[in-house]
Amino acid sequence: MLTLCICRRVDIGHRMPLLETEAIVLRTYRLGEADKIASLFARQLGRLRAVARGALRPKSRYGGTLEPLSYVRLWIFERENRDLLHLNSAELLESFFDMQKDYHVQLAAQYLAEVAERMLPEREANERAFRLLLTVLRALKRSGEVNRPLLYFDYWMLRLGGFLPDLESCSACGRALGEEGGYYGPGSEGLLCRECRLPGAKQQVSGTALAMVRTACHVPLDRWLAQEKAPPGCREARGFFEEIIETQVERKLITREMMGEEV
Ligand SMILES: [Zn+2]
Repeated sequence: MLTLCICRRVDIGHRMPLLETEAIVLRTYRLGEADKIASLFARQLGRLRAVARGALRPKSRYGGTLEPLSYVRLWIFERENRDLLHLNSAELLESFFDMQKDYHVQLAAQYLAEVAERMLPEREANERAFRLLLTVLRALKRSGEVNRPLLYFDYWMLRLGGFLPDLESCSACGRALGEEGGYYGPGSEGLLCRECRLPGAKQQVSGTALAMVRTACHVPLDRWLAQEKAPPGCREARGFFEEIIETQVERKLITREMMGEEV
């Protein structure tokens, strides 16, 4: 139920009260001949799904507002005793459509949507995660670079969710990881030193990459991107965070596999 939410209620004569919220469209699915279901991360309501009636029709009132990753203002209503929410109308605030003509940026954008969809709990507003997603989308759009925005996103999504592992010491014995860094593998929740390393922990993230992450992810992303180019170790650190995210969401990320080592 949305009765406890803090978003603005607008009554424009509709039988159900309309809830106004900003949102980022994570993705949409086809529903029957003419409708869509939109998976949304709403600023005031959290992650949710809503039916957009007639969205597939050529002259739909939604126009281009429901493109993946669009930043929109929405008016939503909920029918009593029904699980799904319904969209009444939408207004585009900022589009992230054009930047996705670049294949790498498109994959990166899809990755953001997938991680957000998997990691964010339903119907729980999360202002910091919302601002993070918007910041990272704007950085992708402005810079066309994938590495630093995605690393920043991974780091802060894990940190905000309380899943960021210790980046300085072994998660088993507590020894400082030092220059060698740590080891991880499928199902890892943290890094292991050489002594504690398990047979499956075949991947390594170097001490240099870990030190870079600890510094770089604590300056505003824009300022970091203003520096000439991505430092070495970004992809390496992203690989580690992607593994931790998969452990936490208990499934493989489709977009991770699509990105491979290239993106
Ligand atoms: Zn150890």
